Amino acid sequence: MTRRPFIAGNWKMHLDRRSIADFCASIKDADLPGDVTVGVFPPFVYLAETVDALAGTGVVVGAQTCRPEEKGAFTGEVAAVQVKDVGATHVIVGHSERRHVMGETDADVRARLDAALGCGLDVVLCLGETLDERKAERTSDVVLGQLAAGTKGLDGETLASRVTLAYEPVWAIGTGLTATPEQAQEVHALVRGRLAEDFGDGVAQRVVVQYGGSVKPANVADLMSCPDVDGALVGGASLAWDSFSALIAFERQEAPQ
Ligand code: PEP
Repeated sequence: MTRRPFIAGNWKMHLDRRSIADFCASIKDADLPGDVTVGVFPPFVYLAETVDALAGTGVVVGAQTCRPEEKGAFTGEVAAVQVKDVGATHVIVGHSERRHVMGETDADVRARLDAALGCGLDVVLCLGETLDERKAERTSDVVLGQLAAGTKGLDGETLASRVTLAYEPVWAIGTGLTATPEQAQEVHALVRGRLAEDFGDGVAQRVVVQYGGSVKPANVADLMSCPDVDGALVGGASLAWDSFSALIAFERQEAPQ
């Protein structure tokens, strides 16, 4: 089964109006590969203008989180329905910075995922262990626990067609430390195996599983060559068009000798 690669930039709290306009202009001028899904996740304040700027390019634009309630007294928060209202199509839930800096629990992540799917947004659900958890050999427990909390009870078709998983070891995010292709493949295969048990092999083979954690042009080809790595969720290297465009063209990148 061939899954369509999905390369996405999570801009976090970076970039400004001008640099985003320049970035979008570069995307519009680019000859994007027809067989790769490309996405960007700008800060909320630039979401609507990024949607407008990239209209017609086929590039996915999404939010970095959302609030599950439709409306209410949640100062500073943005509802999934509002993300949908400005024309975005996707939302990231469960990013490790939301889990570990903002204290979101598995239940919080699930509420966001359900709200997003419920209003017609597609979801990128992030999973990943901390360094302490890896050292304590708890990687599979942690990742499979987050997977279960995020997907239990979902309809298989919805999961396969509207949920992307992103395995992002917390120790590799923004640190320059990348999981080796072997480490990434091991966890991706574990995740796909559990999806097969829970939802059947047909669904498991369709779910796109991105890797995230210090992905850059020099390591993207090796990571993408792993059979269960279907894309990348990228922070730092997605902030400049030069490096992001090199990631999108991952098939042409070579690892340094
Ligand atoms: C991320 O924010 O999801 C991420 C993987 O960041 P970086 O690529 O900078 O490690």
